[in-house]
Amino acid sequence: MKHTFTFMGTGAGCGVPAFFCDCPACEEARANPNARRGDCGVMVTGSTRTLIDTPPDIRSYFNREGVRYIDDLIFTHWHYDHVGGLGELEYMVQLLTKKALPTFASPYTLESIGREFEYMMYCLARCPIEPFEQFEIDDVRYTALPVTHAPGTYGYLIETDETRLFYASDTGKLPPETAERIRGVDILAMDATYWKENGYPQNHHSVQECIEEGLELDAGKIYLTHMCMHYSEPITLAQLEEYLEQYDGRVTPAADGLSFEI
Ligand SMILES: [Zn+2]
Ligand SMILES: [Zn+2]
Ligand SMILES: [Zn+2]
Repeated sequence: MKHTFTFMGTGAGCGVPAFFCDCPACEEARANPNARRGDCGVMVTGSTRTLIDTPPDIRSYFNREGVRYIDDLIFTHWHYDHVGGLGELEYMVQLLTKKALPTFASPYTLESIGREFEYMMYCLARCPIEPFEQFEIDDVRYTALPVTHAPGTYGYLIETDETRLFYASDTGKLPPETAERIRGVDILAMDATYWKENGYPQNHHSVQECIEEGLELDAGKIYLTHMCMHYSEPITLAQLEEYLEQYDGRVTPAADGLSFEI
């Protein structure tokens, strides 16, 4: 069966444009909708829909993609830019699907979400996933791999019959065991928060570090995601695309709404 992988949002924290920012990247995004980025999340669609993370912009993503409901939910971690839209799903469960939504994440993340969204926990059927544990949804195998970020954060190795893809929206340099598990993936979609200077190397990658690590791991195709475009030093999408020409299409900035078959 064919599956589709969709970038719902591809920005870091405050999005592009950030409402409080007048840098060249934000001005570019105000003028050009293609350069706009909401907070990070992805969806895998086959005979069912699996959403990874519920960023604050999730309602507009669902409307943009024509998504009426999701069947399963996975979390990378518990930071606001990845969970802030969870409240939207209470209405979906109450008014449409009327059953608790299977929700996969680390025990730490589930506990954190349970505290923050206590009032709607009846909407979620929580499935704690241990590091390196595998689970299958709709003929897609997910492996939870620890990454270098906040406690309990995972990247997910996503495998279909056709494709091995590793998605890690938030991570510094990958832990060795995770790196070995994903060596040679067909597609790497990874944290590229900073341009040039990495202001938070224990939690994130720069564009340059993401590419370097992706090439070292022999990833077939590298999508840069969780891009801030204006931490450290601003860069416009036009400038970034020009910089990436040297990789002959092997490295591409992810974009909100971009999708491909896996
Ligand atoms: Zn800006
Ligand atoms: Zn985070
Ligand atoms: Zn994040």
